[in-house]
Amino acid sequence: MENLTNINVIKSILEKHGFSFSKGLGQNFLINPDICPKIAEMGNAAPGNGILEIGTGFGTLTAELAKRADKVVAIEIDTRLLPILDETLCDFNNVKIINDDVMKCDIKKIITDEFAGMDVSVCANLPYYITSPIIMMLLENNLPIKSITVMVQKEAAQRLCAKVGSRESGAITVAVNYYADVKKLFSVSRGSFMPAPNVDSAVIRIDLKDTGKLDKETEDAFFKIVKYAFAQRRKTLLNSLSAKMNIDKDKLVTILESININPSVRVEQLDINQLKSLAVSLKAVI
Ligand code: SAM
Repeated sequence: MENLTNINVIKSILEKHGFSFSKGLGQNFLINPDICPKIAEMGNAAPGNGILEIGTGFGTLTAELAKRADKVVAIEIDTRLLPILDETLCDFNNVKIINDDVMKCDIKKIITDEFAGMDVSVCANLPYYITSPIIMMLLENNLPIKSITVMVQKEAAQRLCAKVGSRESGAITVAVNYYADVKKLFSVSRGSFMPAPNVDSAVIRIDLKDTGKLDKETEDAFFKIVKYAFAQRRKTLLNSLSAKMNIDKDKLVTILESININPSVRVEQLDINQLKSLAVSLKAVI
């Protein structure tokens, strides 16, 4: 296989297949030769493991994953890339490409059908226009996966990796931390991509937890509280919640005080355990 980070190789693929990058599909392909091996190594691509990739581009990361893992299944929406991938990945017999929109796929079924007996992780250089929906879809569906190692925009990485209970946190920070432990692995400059985007990027790793989940009713209340309170994050918790809930303010104050939460705090000051206690106390009324 030719070196897919070499500009001349890329140019010849573009010319031969008449390919042009689609901005709408977030097509910024990696051309820095150091990055894909690092993502593969830090993202659980290893013997015995299966990797689900989202968005192949020319197959640069796919190839590094396939060198290390037992099997790679990659979901790619852009049909124009299929003949290119036939060429760039022809050395590998452990790669399967699914030509589909990742948001419309039955990921649980793909994992069950394709990765029997393997530990499964997700690795990707995500299309930036749907970073959060993809991450939330992977987390909310209770999938049998160990980790999600993804390249995202630097600002998204900061938000996702912020400490819950800090000013930098947001609804997505809380949601991700409910399901998983998350950390930033390394930064990637915009010059590592072709075409170069307007922002820098970072690779983050999300390790799914199997503990700390709430029962369904309390979990629904937890996510409603997060949604309501972060929608008006500059307001006090009392005001942001009472604006959305059909509950007497005095009653809400009593409930908050009964679990030692000051009604005048802002949601961004609460940690995960306080938000969980809030869900337990409010599930009957929210
Ligand atoms: N992995 C390649 C790399 O690192 O060079 C390409 C990464 S590029 C940032 C994102 C890829 O995701 C593109 O190939 C794009 O066509 C694909 N993509 C965009 N939206 C998608 C979707 N909804 N489902 C599946 N793939 C998608």
